[in-house]
Amino acid sequence: ATVLAIETSCDETGVAIVKNRKVLSNVVASQIAIHHPYGGVVPEVASRHHLEMVNSVLDQALETAGLDWSAIDGVAATCAPGLVGALLTGITAAKTLALVQNKPFLGIHHLEGHIYASYLTETTLQPPFLCLLVSGGHTSLIHVKDCGVYHTLGHTVDDAAGEAFDKVARLLNLGYPGGPIIDQLASQGNPKAFTLPEGKISLPNGGYHPYHSSFSGLKTAVLRLVQALKQDNQPLPVADIAASFQETVAKSLTKRAIACAVDFGLDTIAVGGGVAANSGLRNYLQEAAKLHNLRVLFPPLKYCTDNAAMIACAASDHLNQGHLSPLTLGAQSRMSLEEVMQLYQQ
Ligand code: ATP
Ligand code: FE
Ligand code: MG
Repeated sequence: ATVLAIETSCDETGVAIVKNRKVLSNVVASQIAIHHPYGGVVPEVASRHHLEMVNSVLDQALETAGLDWSAIDGVAATCAPGLVGALLTGITAAKTLALVQNKPFLGIHHLEGHIYASYLTETTLQPPFLCLLVSGGHTSLIHVKDCGVYHTLGHTVDDAAGEAFDKVARLLNLGYPGGPIIDQLASQGNPKAFTLPEGKISLPNGGYHPYHSSFSGLKTAVLRLVQALKQDNQPLPVADIAASFQETVAKSLTKRAIACAVDFGLDTIAVGGGVAANSGLRNYLQEAAKLHNLRVLFPPLKYCTDNAAMIACAASDHLNQGHLSPLTLGAQSRMSLEEVMQLYQQ
């Protein structure tokens, strides 16, 4: 099916047209520069800018694809999880278009979109596989069983991986968003310069949870390290700190993803979310996967961070299965992947 999808869950206004797994157009208007002075995303500001941008982004997506409405089989929008005001802008636009153009409407779970990013370039990929989803708000290991059928095996108990990058960048006064800046700095630093703690989740039997992660302790350890180094009145070795932090995150994620894939007999790990762009994680996970004969898929950077192509790809699959959402569907700030099928009429 050919689907037009709108993504407005956070700070990117995206519209894309995808035919099954083929991207016909993918337009993203980022608000990063707008939120930069605040050091993070301001929800009200995000909603207003989505509203201002959505029509022109829509026009561009249709024009780039060179299609008119007769070629479009359905209209989709991200409906959960995310900032409710931001999500509502996209959902309302999509529902209106669906109604006016007389097309089916589909609400899409944002994290299902991040999972589908891998299908856009690995067009023959089929479930089952493991998805390592590492974004600004999530760090999850997901057993992908079928379209709409997911089982979350591991998650962070506190900060998401991307959030950890952003917080560490902030305490080093590097700017926002922190991931790309730390990634860049880390390439000039020594990852063995400092030993930092990998967060481990204790189990009642004295062992550690093999798939859950924790990053708030690591962030605090970086803060303590910075405070201790500042006492010496020497210039802060920012690149070494960035490299050591990045390697600790990469190691922690790699260990958990490999354990999960091996334990569940899954031969492919598809990575998604903004942190999938991280070069430390890419290198570390690729190397480890070789030793275990696992295949690792990293989408190109434009499909790692928020975009509507991944949402349209998920919607196309759902539409092919006959899944449709009611026009009464609303936005939800929280929703687990296990609840995805509740978005569709049975
Ligand atoms: P969610 O999908 O959980 O709602 P989100 O959509 O805001 O969160 P994404 O847009 O997928 O998250 O990713 C943004 C995050 O990715 C930010 O925290 C950013 O710092 C991080 N990030 C982007 N590029 C890199 C990189 N090269 N290295 C590490 N982190 C990165
Ligand atoms: Fe996202
Ligand atoms: Mg984002």
